[in-house]
Amino acid sequence: MSLIDGQGRQFKSLRISLTSACNYACDYCVPEGTLLKASPEALSGEDLMRLVSLLHRVLGLSKLRLTGGEPLIAPNLKTVLRAIPELGIDTSVTTNAQFLSRHCQDIARAGLSGVNVSLDALDPEVFRVLAKSGDVGTVLQGIEDALALGLRVKVNTVPMRTKNRDQLAPLFDWCSQRGIELRFIELMRMGHLSNPAAFEADFISEAEIVDLLSEFGPATQQPREANSTSYSYLNERGKFGFISNESAPFCSDCDRLRLSSDGRIFGCISSTHNRDIRPALAMETADALAFIQEALGDTLKSKQPVRFSGEQTIMQIIGG
Ligand code: SAM
Repeated sequence: MSLIDGQGRQFKSLRISLTSACNYACDYCVPEGTLLKASPEALSGEDLMRLVSLLHRVLGLSKLRLTGGEPLIAPNLKTVLRAIPELGIDTSVTTNAQFLSRHCQDIARAGLSGVNVSLDALDPEVFRVLAKSGDVGTVLQGIEDALALGLRVKVNTVPMRTKNRDQLAPLFDWCSQRGIELRFIELMRMGHLSNPAAFEADFISEAEIVDLLSEFGPATQQPREANSTSYSYLNERGKFGFISNESAPFCSDCDRLRLSSDGRIFGCISSTHNRDIRPALAMETADALAFIQEALGDTLKSKQPVRFSGEQTIMQIIGG
C-alpha cells in the first residue's frame, strides 16, 4: 500500500501524546469547567516507545514531538526520555512549562533539540483566568532554567481578543530580550470554538497582530519552509512567527501523524478517525509492521485538502 496521498503528502513527523491529562484548562482548548483526564488505557513508556519504533521502521520519521495533554505530568515521561536517544530522531517537547524546572535536566540529557512552551500571558491574573491554574512566575523560571542548560526554547501564544490581547506586545518584548522566538497560533475553530459566535468573539488575525507589534518597528515576512506550519516576520527587535490556520491554511503539505497515549494513530488534528495499533504489541515484528502499514494507509485518508475546522477535535489529547 502506498503511503503517499494524492497531494504528495507522507507522514514524516510524529506527535506523541504521553498522557491525555492536563494540569491546565485553557479557554481555547476546553470548555469552561472541563478537566482533561488520563485515558484509562494509557500505555506504559515501554509500550508507547515500541509503537514509535515500529512506526519509524515503516515511515523513516524525521521529527518527533512529545506532547499531551501535558507531557511533563505523564507517569511514563522518564521511560520515554530514556528511549529517545536510541531512535536517533530529532525530538522536541511541547509543554505548558509549569514543571519545566523539575524536568529540564532529563530533557537535556535525552538530547532533545528544543522545548516549545505554551505561554499566553505575562500578567499573573490574565494567565490564571485563561489557564485556570498554574503560576506564571514558575513558568518563566522554567524557561530560564531550560535556556541555562542550552536548550532551544520557543514560545507559542494563542491570541484571544477577550482574554489576552493586551499581553501580546509584552510577550514579544520579553521573548525578544532573551532571543526567544515567539509564535502566535491563530485561534482554531475546534471543539467548543466551532460555534461561530464563540470563535468570532475571540479570533484575532495575523494582520492585526503584525499591526499591533509595529510599535517595535516595521516587520518583513520571511518565506514559509515546506512542510512547516509556521513562518516568521523579522523586525529590529527579533523574530516572531505565525501558525495561521485561518489567514494562511497549511494542510496542503502537512506531514504530521499523531499517536495517542493509548496507542491510536490519527492522520489529522481535526478528525476523530483513528486506528488502534496496540495489537501490534503482541505480534511478531514482520506481522506488526504489515499491520501498521495498513493502518497508516487508512489514516492518511483523513487529511484535509487545504484547511481544517472540527466540531470534534483531538487537539486536547494530542495537541501542540
Ligand atoms: N500541554 C501542552 C502545552 O500546553 O503546550 C501540550 C498540549 S496543548 C493542547 C498544545 C497547544 O495546542 C496549546 O498550547 C495551544 O497552543 C494549542 N491549541 C489548543 N487548542 C487550540 C485552539 N482552539 N486554537 C489554537 N491553538 C490551540
